[in-house]
Amino acid sequence: MVIMETIAAYGAFCGLIIPVMRATPLIPSFASSEGLEGDQKIVDDLTDRMGISKKIEVRRTPVEEKFEYAAFGALALPFSQSFLVPQTHWISQEAKPLVYAHEIAHIECNHLLKFGALLAITIIAVSIIFFGMSPLEFALLAGVVAGVAALILYSQYAEKEADLRACEVLSDEEILSGVAMFEQIRIEQLETYNEAKAGRTGHYFADLVFRMTLNENGDNLLDIFHPPLSERISYMNAFVKDRATV
Ligand SMILES: [Zn+2]
Repeated sequence: MVIMETIAAYGAFCGLIIPVMRATPLIPSFASSEGLEGDQKIVDDLTDRMGISKKIEVRRTPVEEKFEYAAFGALALPFSQSFLVPQTHWISQEAKPLVYAHEIAHIECNHLLKFGALLAITIIAVSIIFFGMSPLEFALLAGVVAGVAALILYSQYAEKEADLRACEVLSDEEILSGVAMFEQIRIEQLETYNEAKAGRTGHYFADLVFRMTLNENGDNLLDIFHPPLSERISYMNAFVKDRATV
């Protein structure tokens, strides 16, 4: 019975998820590259340095600025040789080499495909639970929880791998300029956290939300798919220091 359910779940996965992922290369055709000529130059230079012969394109997200989450980052797409940058201009000119090399590294390392494969396993486990309520239910549920934990862990691992791969091809100055932008975001988040803790945002609910979603290191706890921002800053700073001593 479990075999049949697994096949059904796998069919559902192939029928739904794969077409969605396969369709992501279509997104850049809706996303404009207008005004990104300078950014494309940075990307071409970085792919050269990383030894990638394929052309990687940078496009703007088709999401309107007002709908964009303030911290919406650059996004590498699975099955695609492009990545998207936000409409909002929160990525400073100086930080672009680091942010873009990070996205190119995601494409180079096929992170999104691997993430998709893990997601598939989790979805199959969930599907089995919903198809057949057997005595194995409890064990399967534990499997799902483990699967979700694995997804989060894998994503944090992949983000760190992309950060460090980017650092390898960047100059110290490029890394430190990128890190400076991360540090600025971290300090803003820390200030918000401290204000909320002191009850100074003026809204009880806002105070509560910020106190629960930020911490005393200035990390955003909702961003479970990246290592904490404070951690990313410190391992990239350490990378520059270590390289100087080699
Ligand atoms: Zn990333």
